[in-house]
Amino acid sequence: MSDAASAPDALPEDTTPEKRDFIRQIVRDDLASGKHRAVKTRFPPEPNGYLHIGHAKAICLNFGIAGEFGGVCNLRFDDTNPAKEDPEYVAAIQDDVRWLGFEWNSLRHASDYFEVYYLAAEKLIRDGKAFVCDLSAEEVRQYRGTLTEPGRNSPWRDRSVEENLDLFRRMRAGEFADGARTLRARIDMASGNINLRDPALYRIKHVEHQNTGDAWPIYPMYDFAHSLGDAVEGITHSLCTLEFEDHRPLYDWCVDNVDLGGHAELLQPLLDKGLPKEAAKPRQIEFSRLNINYTVMSKRKLMALVGEGLVDGWDDPRMPTLQGLRRRGYTPAAMRLFAERVGISKQNSLIDFSVLEGALREDLDAAAPRRMAVIDPLKLVLANLPEDHEETLAFSNHPKDEGFGKRSVPFARELWIEREDFAEVPPKGFKRLIPGGEVRLRGAGIVRCDEVIRNDAGEIVELRGWLDPESRPGMAGAERKIKGTIHWVSARHAVEAEIRLYDRLFTVADPDDESEGRTYRDHLNPASRRIVAGYVEPAAAAAAPEQSFQFERIGYFVADRYDHTGERPVFNRSVTLRDTWTSKG
Ligand code: ATP
Ligand code: MG
Repeated sequence: MSDAASAPDALPEDTTPEKRDFIRQIVRDDLASGKHRAVKTRFPPEPNGYLHIGHAKAICLNFGIAGEFGGVCNLRFDDTNPAKEDPEYVAAIQDDVRWLGFEWNSLRHASDYFEVYYLAAEKLIRDGKAFVCDLSAEEVRQYRGTLTEPGRNSPWRDRSVEENLDLFRRMRAGEFADGARTLRARIDMASGNINLRDPALYRIKHVEHQNTGDAWPIYPMYDFAHSLGDAVEGITHSLCTLEFEDHRPLYDWCVDNVDLGGHAELLQPLLDKGLPKEAAKPRQIEFSRLNINYTVMSKRKLMALVGEGLVDGWDDPRMPTLQGLRRRGYTPAAMRLFAERVGISKQNSLIDFSVLEGALREDLDAAAPRRMAVIDPLKLVLANLPEDHEETLAFSNHPKDEGFGKRSVPFARELWIEREDFAEVPPKGFKRLIPGGEVRLRGAGIVRCDEVIRNDAGEIVELRGWLDPESRPGMAGAERKIKGTIHWVSARHAVEAEIRLYDRLFTVADPDDESEGRTYRDHLNPASRRIVAGYVEPAAAAAAPEQSFQFERIGYFVADRYDHTGERPVFNRSVTLRDTWTSKG
């Protein structure tokens, strides 16, 4: 392993602690050896759905490397499959990348290069490296062979250059029906790598495209478009997930045989569009996908959850989409911390959901101000205070960081406390309020419970107690040994709030497990969302949408991005204070 000393002086300072995964090592070596003067990466989503947390890993990697090594990263929409793509996704993806804290050097679309791809295909035809094939999809499958048997040459493989050019131009002119013909690379039907057995480069699809309208009845295939897109943009390191490892020989074949760098005329359409002419030989490097338990991550399944109404849309706070996680209260810093913890390798692994939750807790513990809220209210009347008693207490916003300052918390004779903080018949070890017992009211003194009031149905509706006037924090009377401290809000001042208690969407670690005829639908957690009416202190109600708090003793919450207002607060539980799942096994 080479060390930091081998890096050239010109490198910008690395962020601390320096990340040392194998891809960053390759980048470091390429800069040190002078193979590249600057690093250029790209994030290439297909706009056929919303981004999920797996994409966040790829975003943090591509934009992270560009940032750490003084390079740049492009955002490129892989819009080569217009039937499944939508401008709604294009907008959301940009929102997501920016939310994560990254900015692209240049925003591109594969469709920006359709003309370059077309010229590249004609060049391959002229070089005898591509041909128009009339086999149907089914016949192509039959000719392809298997992992153990070589394929057979298409009967159309030896068409003349003239005939191929003529047919390909007529494909472009829209003369043929969908599926009637394909343009195929002429490589090797006996290759051990099936991707090299004369793969399709273009197919006919009379489908309108969101950017190019009906200009194109033919669309390039992924491997052709992606490799050339990287080359066109001068991408130095093309980072993708492991399933593309077997595609790398085809990726290289396209880059080498089209040779954009050596054929400036192929890039002329870029100049016509005002795009820079870059062209370089990119290197594809694969890393393992992010997989997390208790969640599904394929766009197809996420789409089905939305389509079947099993969640409230792509941004439902239980979804692993970036829009969903954001609405749940995940912060960009937590997402980046998570990506860093997960790291980059070639080993496929399954990350425990608690690692994600842990990253959020760690960020919010440091970054979220504290507030008081009661989610299952029970009234406590401090009978020894006058009816109109009212005062303002000063509370620290953060126990470990004075920089957060203080806030005013109103206090009065009637409070809401948490129903579970009172027990008539206390379980063993119960340290909170019991009849005749004492407990500390956070920041306000020691209260004794004198009376339990019930309704006709026998339910407890109110507690009456005595607040020791000598027990304010700082007074001598506060020194008494009292086991528990509970939180509260002043009933008169508190604002009623909708509290959405979210939990994991699935009850099992592997919702993709389809044994015994089950599907992920059978593993949905019926308790993944519980909505309750609670009370929050005024300083919480006044939050801006997307502001996060720790509600003392109950968890981290965020003011809902869309539904929260000061008059009608809505808070989503982002994560509990402690991991409640490990004990469930
Ligand atoms: P899905 O399989 O969920 O539908 P995809 O790979 O089809 O996702 P793309 O839009 O093609 O989605 O992905 C854009 C980039 O994000 C690709 O480079 C892809 O490798 C990367 N990516 C997608 N899913 C993950 C994941 N789970 N972990 C890491 N990177 C991912
Ligand atoms: Mg994909």
